[in-house]
Amino acid sequence: MADLNTNVQYVKGVGPQKAKLLAKLGIETLRDLISWLPRRYEDRTELRQIADLVSGETAGVAAMIAETPTLSRIRQGMELVKVRAVDDTGTLDVTFFNQPWLRTQLLVGQVYIFYGKAEGNLFRKQMTSPVVELEGKQESTGRIVPIYPLTAGVSQLTLSRSIRQGLDAIRDILPDVLPDEVRLQHQLCRIGYAYENIHFPESPEALTIARRRLAFEELFLFTIGLMRLRNRREVVHIAPYKAVSLQPFLDALPFTLTDAQQRCVDEAISDMRSGTPMNRLCQGDVGSGKTMVAAACVYFAVKNGHQAAMMAPTEILAHQHFEGLSPLLEQFDIRCALLTGSTGAKAKREILSKLAAGEVDFVVGTHALITDTVAYQDLGLVITDEQHRFGVVQRASLAQKGCHPHTLVMSATPIPRTLALLLYGDLDVSVIDQLPPGRQPIQTIAVSGSYHPRIFNFIRQQVAQGRQVYIICPMVEDGEDGPDDRKAVTSYARNLQEAVFPDLKVAFVHGKMKSKEKDAIMSAFAAHETDILVSTTVVEVGVDVPNATVMVVENAERFGLSQLHQLRGRVGRGAHQSYCVLISDSKSDETRQRLRVMVKTRDGFQIAEEDLRMRGPGDFFGQRQHGLPGLKVADLGCDTRLLQEARQAAEALLEEDPDLSHHPATAARVEELFAQRSDTLN
Ligand code: ADP
Ligand code: MG
Repeated sequence: MADLNTNVQYVKGVGPQKAKLLAKLGIETLRDLISWLPRRYEDRTELRQIADLVSGETAGVAAMIAETPTLSRIRQGMELVKVRAVDDTGTLDVTFFNQPWLRTQLLVGQVYIFYGKAEGNLFRKQMTSPVVELEGKQESTGRIVPIYPLTAGVSQLTLSRSIRQGLDAIRDILPDVLPDEVRLQHQLCRIGYAYENIHFPESPEALTIARRRLAFEELFLFTIGLMRLRNRREVVHIAPYKAVSLQPFLDALPFTLTDAQQRCVDEAISDMRSGTPMNRLCQGDVGSGKTMVAAACVYFAVKNGHQAAMMAPTEILAHQHFEGLSPLLEQFDIRCALLTGSTGAKAKREILSKLAAGEVDFVVGTHALITDTVAYQDLGLVITDEQHRFGVVQRASLAQKGCHPHTLVMSATPIPRTLALLLYGDLDVSVIDQLPPGRQPIQTIAVSGSYHPRIFNFIRQQVAQGRQVYIICPMVEDGEDGPDDRKAVTSYARNLQEAVFPDLKVAFVHGKMKSKEKDAIMSAFAAHETDILVSTTVVEVGVDVPNATVMVVENAERFGLSQLHQLRGRVGRGAHQSYCVLISDSKSDETRQRLRVMVKTRDGFQIAEEDLRMRGPGDFFGQRQHGLPGLKVADLGCDTRLLQEARQAAEALLEEDPDLSHHPATAARVEELFAQRSDTLN
């Protein structure tokens, strides 16, 4: 008997050959198969009469073959079948390319359904290569038809037939992971009906009902998973940290913390003194000074006798944090180390052994920090910077390195509320809602490429005043192995240096450089050895050079709003007036509207909401980046109300049955979804 883990090749009508095709889509089990959801649907329910066909519109007709089809060859290899079909209202001429078998298959006197784009005029109606099926034997006409995402070699028909077979094999024995009481209370359909109608909807209404049920289920399971992570942590007891004075640290800073920074530090410290592990998100717009909040926590943890780790999403950023923080912390005998993917083997071995022996107190790094080979003597505090780059799972995996380390997540991305609920449902939140004093608002303009001469003049003036400039250059040229941003940046920078600014120092940096090289270039820019830095978006996240006052973004239409906001956040970090110039020749309304949002709005939260509204959550994070287990149907941009319902249901269920012992199917599915999977550790 089949269950969800049955290999698809054993599904009736699939077999080993089709199974091989399906495997290309990652479909291996029956669960994979029925979870392969349509990308969209085509409503082919309605049939028209031939006389009502409108040229240019896609429609279906039921018509009888009136004459024997003819076959002709027009060019070498190109075969044409022509046939005339009729109904009570008129005649339809149908042409098929390269389907010679249709000549003998289409029988005179039989009625077929033709579904395709109509052409011709009032008197002569035509269709070219429509879908054709014998009336009464229809699979892909006369109904709402699912259109699946495909890969080469797998056709819509193969997929929908396999899914049909798969559903038939499993529908009546599908385990329902939603408890009955939840299903009834929230008026959700049964699981079998949901899967049936998400694939082969009986009607648009049935599709809506099915979709709602599956989206609810995803959000429900996801919320339960997060809540259990949270609850699990609350029962953990650890030794509370002692009250260590931060005064020496604060005295060593060149500035006083803002009230908002101080509040975040206080909240984090009170977490660490509470006797349960901290799990806190520190959210603050670009430039709000999150790094110092992190540094204060590091100081506190290390002075309590524990190790601290900080994980950054890029090597440039890890390097910058290390350069910025180690001189500060080393004054207090805090031993610091930098560990990234490009740390040499020998240096790496040394750092690893020191971490294990407790001879390094604070380590900054990239993903390298969460590989299995890194062991700590006593990891007390884990900080992840710019969290949205990391999945939920990665966060957990780093946390597993310590016994129960305190975790602090720093995010500059103002996450729209719906997403925040999901991403950070298991975290407490501190917000830095204040910028350090003396900052002037960044002036933003959006212009077309014809402004280049004026922009270059402006850059020259700024450099003459001792300031520095970023130019972001996303143009991608085609290289031998596909698109290549290296070439684009290199040639742009060369041009700029030779033709526009021969007397200034122009440098460039892109993602494909070795990280030593990148670091050297960034350090030179930070030390003001160069005036202009041409870059890809590798500087998007976190880079801090307060003397830089101009951010120029070429082809600004290629970026999302949140990304533009991040880029703009690279300037305006010191006392000087800063500028952001968005260059775009795009005439599209949408682009103009987006750039207008950037010009008008400084508030990162507002920008993020707009971004989510215009692009949807997949784009907002980049499909892979959001790393949220199991969300396929739910649309985080639109399903806000459903999310609230699902959340309430999840809370109620956990209240009544905290360890889900009475709901084993639900528990098992949540476990499965949250089990650490290597492919979410991108
Ligand atoms: P972000 O929140 O974007 O990570 P950073 O921590 O990089 O911001 O800080 C931005 C800049 O502001 C840095 O140059 C930092 O030294 C400076 N800064 C941070 N806190 C203060 C403060 N309280 N007063 C003045 N400058 C500050
Ligand atoms: Mg930062």
